[in-house]
Amino acid sequence: MNPQHLTEHLSTPFVDDYDVVVAGGGASGLIAAVSASRTGARTLLLERANCMGGTGTTSMVAQWIGFFNRDRQVVGGIANELAQRVVKLGGSEGFKRYLMAEASAHPIPLVHFAFNPETVKIACDQLALAAGVSVRLHSRVVAPILEKGRVTGVVVEDAAGRSAIRARRVVDATGDASVAQAAGVELAHPEVQSKRDAQPCTLMFRLSNVDVAAFRAIPREHKRALALKGIAEKKIYCESLSFCSTPGNTDAICLMSRVSGFDTTDPQDLTNAEMEGRRQIGTIVEFLKANVAGFDQAILAGIAAHIGVRETRRIVGRYTLTEDDILGDTRFPDSIALGAGPLDIHETGGTGIRLHVPDQPFEIPMRCLVPARVQGLLVTGRAISATRSANGGARHMATAMALGEAAGVLAALSVASDQDVPADEVRALLRERGAYVSLEDAEQMFEPA
Ligand SMILES: Cc1cc2nc3c(=O)[nH]c(=O)nc-3n(C[C@H](O)[C@H](O)[C@H](O)COP(=O)(O)OP(=O)(O)OC[C@H]3O[C@@H](n4cnc5c(N)ncnc54)[C@H](O)[C@@H]3O)c2cc1C
Repeated sequence: MNPQHLTEHLSTPFVDDYDVVVAGGGASGLIAAVSASRTGARTLLLERANCMGGTGTTSMVAQWIGFFNRDRQVVGGIANELAQRVVKLGGSEGFKRYLMAEASAHPIPLVHFAFNPETVKIACDQLALAAGVSVRLHSRVVAPILEKGRVTGVVVEDAAGRSAIRARRVVDATGDASVAQAAGVELAHPEVQSKRDAQPCTLMFRLSNVDVAAFRAIPREHKRALALKGIAEKKIYCESLSFCSTPGNTDAICLMSRVSGFDTTDPQDLTNAEMEGRRQIGTIVEFLKANVAGFDQAILAGIAAHIGVRETRRIVGRYTLTEDDILGDTRFPDSIALGAGPLDIHETGGTGIRLHVPDQPFEIPMRCLVPARVQGLLVTGRAISATRSANGGARHMATAMALGEAAGVLAALSVASDQDVPADEVRALLRERGAYVSLEDAEQMFEPA
């Protein structure tokens, strides 16, 4: 017996067989599954949490950005449909202008879609079920099944134990490229000295009984002074008093903790990060109640079920998107989604934020979703093939949803053939459904309500 390893002899039953299996039901995975199912593929979505929506729900990051680059809408299709569904359910007031990072040195105006994450959970269920997607929650994908270098399914652990599921195509939408990594897909260089130098995490929390209007009335300079006072007192952790308010203006879903120096792909670091986030929330709430108008009667109503993770792994795909592509207006014949930015890199260990909105939307080629070597697998969402700074501009949730729609179409079309699906076929189907795939599609100006 090897003293360093426990050798297990596992016999795992095959319990199902699907055309497309999507690992992860976050922003990108949900839309990928809906898209694949609508393209005719028998589709299963596996999600480790108790709901879909990903960082937007489980981590309570309660606003979608990336739908608009300045005043131009760049994401349509199923993402837009989901947004309209949330409005209809009373979970959002729709697209609005917003000053992001208002209390920082360089705030930027954006169009965002703020929402109540609880309503989004319901909307995600409705969208997936209406599209005929089979959904399994509380199901963690623990390994790919590999045959001759091709991914042919996944192994899942859930309440029933461990089981295997065959798939003609697997879409890794875990955000962490967990399936891709285990399948041997080459990972991009992290571009930081240590994994602990990745962008900081944020543990979101929700305060109820807040007078949001009173807070919004505080002049920007005063908000900045409050944030700096909080930092000096070590009770606030970034130059921001950012929160999203839900319809009714009684609740604040706060993006104020900043948890640096942890590698969230390491289980002990992840645990420590969650606990540090909760410690920070304690001091932030104390500071807000004592110092900030509108918060004096606030009640801590909830803490996100999973800390928000900005940065982990990225794959090496057939093309790697770069910051020059984003800022230099590079056009791609196989563009399948548009990004809006901002380029958004949070300082490790610091209190500042670097935000830059590109002058125009940018194209993202289909090749960024296709691993350079391993077959049978696509990667969508936060872990696509991009440099670190390009990832800072392409990781927003509306962009992740647009990528998901493309990944779903590509996965479903490729089930029929072992040959590469021509990008034109994918683009044509996406356009037919109202998705925007190239800069020309975003030409029309759009005035948000
Ligand atoms: C603190 C913070 C603030 C942000 N602010 C904004 C913002 O204001 N607006 C915006 O648009 N974007 C924002 N982002 C970025 C955005 O939320 C993410 O980049 C985006 O959600 C990525 O989408 P995704 O689908 O790739 O991943 P996610 O939305 O994270 O979804 C991944 C899903 O996969 C599941 N999963 C993971 N591993 C497994 C497994 N092994 N088996 C089964 N399921 C698995 C997870 O539970 C999750 O549901 C922010 C991110 C953070 C962390």
